Amino acid sequence: MSPPLHDGQGRRFEYLRLSLTDVCNFRCSYCLPDGYRKQAGQPTNLSVDEIRRLVTAFARLGLWKVRLTGGEPSLRQELLEIARTVAAVPGIRKLAMTTNGYRLADRAADYAAAGIDALNVSVDSLEPARFAAITGHDWLGEVLGGITAARRAGISAIKLNSVLMHGVNDDELNSFTAFVAEHDLTLRFIEVMRTNDNPEFFNDHHLAGAVIADQLERSGWQRLPREAGAGPAIEFAAPGGRGRIGIIAPYSKDFCASCNRLRVSAKGKLHLCLFGDVGIDLRPLVQDDAQLDELTGRIVALTATKAPGHRLHQGNSGATPHLASIGG
Ligand code: SAM
Ligand code: SF4
Repeated sequence: MSPPLHDGQGRRFEYLRLSLTDVCNFRCSYCLPDGYRKQAGQPTNLSVDEIRRLVTAFARLGLWKVRLTGGEPSLRQELLEIARTVAAVPGIRKLAMTTNGYRLADRAADYAAAGIDALNVSVDSLEPARFAAITGHDWLGEVLGGITAARRAGISAIKLNSVLMHGVNDDELNSFTAFVAEHDLTLRFIEVMRTNDNPEFFNDHHLAGAVIADQLERSGWQRLPREAGAGPAIEFAAPGGRGRIGIIAPYSKDFCASCNRLRVSAKGKLHLCLFGDVGIDLRPLVQDDAQLDELTGRIVALTATKAPGHRLHQGNSGATPHLASIGG
């Protein structure tokens, strides 16, 4: 096998986030507050065969984990076929999905059977009315029921994702920690990130990860040492031993140094950074199995050019209108 994919900073990439669709049925206030709007003239999503070739090329370069994301990946009609296809690519050892939990209770067993072995479920509030205000849907009960169903279906690696926002849901920190400890779950608090579409929302509601870390430590949560090769989350263990919390703080110092992921959009564009410039089109190279060598060569060459860090601190969010467009 070729050596692991790396860039000029020596960062290794073993993890691909693959968006299956830009479409979403939620209207999260920080992401798609007015809901998904179809843009005219957009290419179709990558087909199942194109995805198979793309993932095969990355796997030949040592990448072993794929996360299906979006938009909302559960809205993609061929989701189960895509999951089975990706899980069957030689070298892929972990298939994860990030979802808003839509119809998860009905589908968890199908996801597990298709090879999805890890789920991140986004839950920004544990209060039904507030969950509805943030997402546009009064579905908190269904989403939590979906998490229970996913556990029953044997998906053992389940994480909650919560964007903690100043003046929106930051008063729920203690409810989240109690929930995590009660159910022995892992939760990731994600700092709200500035995108091209949400600068005002960001200015009003951004809450630094350091503030959350400080509050956790004051309540007895223990900061865990970073494991080699771990992603960018700062991890904490619960005082009683049940439950874990991670903080994704892209504005913190050294965040980019631990970046271990690459992204491909639903239309086949490689994004070297969530906040980079426009993606680079890989689609012309996934049309035929005979192109695999050319595709792997192109991925290696492009990855080597990954910038050392984002430019968020200079107020530059790159070309990303919102995270639904390339898969957060
Ligand atoms: N629709 C799925 C979901 O919400 O889980 C998957 C796609 S969504 C873009 C992936 C993650 O990005 C979600 O956990 C969401 O909360 C997070 N996200 C979206 N926009 C964000 C922003 N501006 N700042 C921080 N997190 C964001
Ligand atoms: Fe949809 Fe996920 Fe964006 Fe919410 S965060 S609007 S669920 S893509």
